Amino acid sequence: MISPTMQAALNAQIAKEFASSYLYLSMAAYFEASNLPGFGNWLRVQAEEERQHAMKFYNHLLDRGGKVQLAALPAPAVEWQSAMQAVEEVLKHEEYITASIYSLYETALAEKDYPTQVMLHWFIEEQVEEEKNAADILDNMKRIEAHETAILMLDHRLAKREAE
Ligand code: MG
Repeated sequence: MISPTMQAALNAQIAKEFASSYLYLSMAAYFEASNLPGFGNWLRVQAEEERQHAMKFYNHLLDRGGKVQLAALPAPAVEWQSAMQAVEEVLKHEEYITASIYSLYETALAEKDYPTQVMLHWFIEEQVEEEKNAADILDNMKRIEAHETAILMLDHRLAKREAE
């Protein structure tokens, strides 16, 4: 059986992963409405990945005899000032999720919950990738700045991103 403390922390993480999915889906709509379908594709794929992250925690709780408690999700923003500002928000959001995963790991250590520690190893690695991807796209955008043609080339590249 999973401890009540660990269970509450994992349920809170499920809500954060679904909230991430919701945020990225809203951003995908913003990009597609701004005629940047490649960025839209990248965020649709991200949104689906976040849903899968939530399901990993969901399945772990059920496998451990825990209780899944889904929470209400906050409504995400609908507009961003610019494409760059939206991507900056993705990076900040992923840094926030990384901090949240580290905090879960601290709880798993304190609770001596070894299966949850092992499950979290995957997420710790995943967050390195998530932050790197967002930081790389943001770096490209900063180099490009106001060059519209280059933004369209980056959009073309992001259109090729597929779900894993
Ligand atoms: Mg995630």
